[in-house]
Amino acid sequence: MVEARRILVVDDEPVVVKSCERILGGAGYEVESVATGQEGIRRAVKGAFHLVMADLKLPDLDGMELVRMLRIERPEIAIVIITGNSSVRSAAEAIRLGVSDYIEKPFTPNEITDAIGRALQTPDSRERSHNEASLMRDVLSRAAGDPVFGQHLLANVELAVSESLEADVQEICAKYGNDRARMMDIVRDVQDHFGCVSGRAMELIAKAASTHRVEVESVVSFYAFLSKELKGKVAIRLCRDVINEQAGGDRVAQAISDELGVDFGRTTPDGHISLEYTACIGMCDQAPAALVNDVVVTSLTAESARRMVRELKQHMDPRRLVRQPGDGNNAHPLVHAMVKNNIRKEGPIVLAELSPGDAIRAALTVSPSQVILDIKDARLRGRGGAGFPTGVKWEFTRLASGEKKCVLCNADEGEPGTFKDRVILTQQPDLMFEGMTIAGYAVGAEVGIVYLRGEYAYLRSYLESVLDRRRGVGLLGADICDRKGFDFDISIQMGAGAYVCGEETALISSCEGLRGDPKDRPPFPAQKGYLGLPTVINNVETFCCVARILEKGSDWFSAIGSKDSTGTKLLSVSGDCERPGVYELPFGVRLRDVLEMVGARNPAAVQVGGPSGQMVGPDGFDRSVCYDDLATGGSMMVFDSSRDVLGIVADFMEFFVEESCGFCTPCRVGNVLLKDRLSDIRAGKGVPEDIEYLKNLGETIKFASRCGLGQTSANPVLTTLRNFPSLYEALVRAPRDGNRRTFDIHAALRDATAITGRKSVIFTE
Ligand code: SF4
Repeated sequence: MVEARRILVVDDEPVVVKSCERILGGAGYEVESVATGQEGIRRAVKGAFHLVMADLKLPDLDGMELVRMLRIERPEIAIVIITGNSSVRSAAEAIRLGVSDYIEKPFTPNEITDAIGRALQTPDSRERSHNEASLMRDVLSRAAGDPVFGQHLLANVELAVSESLEADVQEICAKYGNDRARMMDIVRDVQDHFGCVSGRAMELIAKAASTHRVEVESVVSFYAFLSKELKGKVAIRLCRDVINEQAGGDRVAQAISDELGVDFGRTTPDGHISLEYTACIGMCDQAPAALVNDVVVTSLTAESARRMVRELKQHMDPRRLVRQPGDGNNAHPLVHAMVKNNIRKEGPIVLAELSPGDAIRAALTVSPSQVILDIKDARLRGRGGAGFPTGVKWEFTRLASGEKKCVLCNADEGEPGTFKDRVILTQQPDLMFEGMTIAGYAVGAEVGIVYLRGEYAYLRSYLESVLDRRRGVGLLGADICDRKGFDFDISIQMGAGAYVCGEETALISSCEGLRGDPKDRPPFPAQKGYLGLPTVINNVETFCCVARILEKGSDWFSAIGSKDSTGTKLLSVSGDCERPGVYELPFGVRLRDVLEMVGARNPAAVQVGGPSGQMVGPDGFDRSVCYDDLATGGSMMVFDSSRDVLGIVADFMEFFVEESCGFCTPCRVGNVLLKDRLSDIRAGKGVPEDIEYLKNLGETIKFASRCGLGQTSANPVLTTLRNFPSLYEALVRAPRDGNRRTFDIHAALRDATAITGRKSVIFTE
């Protein structure tokens, strides 16, 4: 027994305090007590106590917060938690935070003195942590009826008390220079290493990066691929977009869930495999598809999904699921993916051959401002969909004041139905890097970053190898192509599953190590972008076009396509067609011709540009794909006449509700209202006025939202109201009794009727 004898009891129940004083006083301890958690923290931090004994349920403060504070401020103090019978989960969480022992009410004198004695006999907090896992087992053995939760929590605790946690987290932070701006890399590495970013890991990261835990937590909680809770060693993320569902995603989901014995959102009791849904993973041409950790599994059926799970249970190695690699660079050892490129039509710009370095050497024959003039002459517009002139954007950046500038490549194609950047990244990365390097030359930037969506992590090593090769032959680094003073290099920044990061300012936030929140404009990225530097930001396909313009000339480029939409467009075609895949076609191509080319089966509707684009019916099939008519970032989903168009719209609205960052009310609340009213209409509860309501609300969301996500989120409703009005009109009816059918008067009266025992004489059921 150590000499320590001073104990602080923090509890608001006089009977508990009295019995502590009696029992512990009788055993020779010196006991003081306070009734509130705030006072408990104050006294414990300032006083000379050896042990704090605290109730988990305090009137003014969560007991967990008290534990957390003491662990930070006074790690040497032992803590014993008092729990009620119903607080097993809370006790488990407290132990995870680092308490020394716990007792349950009502406790016997022996129980309390034993717990206190044990806690004080392990004077060092690090040594105490060794006991935590066994304490947790004890807690869990008392937790009745929830073995999945129990196992999951146990795994969390074992992780949290891991001896190596502190050293390993510190090492990861040091690898990134303890730089807060590298937070995405740090938390991704911690997640990969430990299976989650636990509360304790967040504290360690915050300390190392000189920031607050809340900042780390805000990042971890924002991205779908990061988690505070421990996931299984293998995470299966099944894509749940409309194309996957129509391809049999529900049957696949059921098969995986049955085989694992857990529902979606849960981890198997042995802690080995987690099961989740995820948004579009860029594989709509080979749906249903899933990510198994970073490994992509495509063209699933219920049977192949069952086989996959059985195999995984045996070897737990997702890479072994890839038996037959796909075509092209999908078979490269650094990619090793079963993904198929599905290139159906190669055009002359993006999918044509390139000899690395040719475009850069061509650019270096003219001045940086002439490069920008060439891009302007080619009338190149951004391929993301909005179509801002690329040369103008570059000129702003070139003229912006600032010694350092940056070139960012948006490889975060998250629009459901889009996958053409996946193919470019797989087959044409040189062309994209070449375009970025030319941008660096034109605007005077030395820093280039590719923001690669988390779903394409399987391409990362390969892309790094291409960058290394380019450095090796003088196409990146110092004095590129022997041009003295032309220094430019490119790094890869991984995303972690957030659609909004495709919005350029949100992407910049993410690169800066923050939540992917969009920023206010002005200032525009060209003036003040990544870390405040003037920044050019374009997408993968745009940079490819840049390289080709410099290689072949602006006249050659602008002769392809239409007057205001020059060049080609890569389309990712999926849905009800014979030949889903990637098509490089000149701008101006008629939608009808595209549908014929892809083998569309009895097409009744086409979603051009993904959920944020437009739904077009047969009346619009003679329209053309270009900025001034059917603008698209690349997604084209074909639906035949058997599909429920309003069901698809509902699915898209669900997607936007899920993906809204929540910053501004029109987007956060408006989309929920749109979704709900649409759901009423589909359920046969709509009235004719609802159509006007949807239009007005949709336009308000479009007008008042802060960023591109909100400004386009109402499009599924607005464009179907315009192009498929009869679908809505067939479902709405004026109520005969004057009451909306969304309001059920009988249900509303039911409680009152039961309480009073009287029935309404007006509203009889
Ligand atoms: Fe966030 Fe939506 Fe507002 Fe954009 S529009 S800032 S995604 S809430």
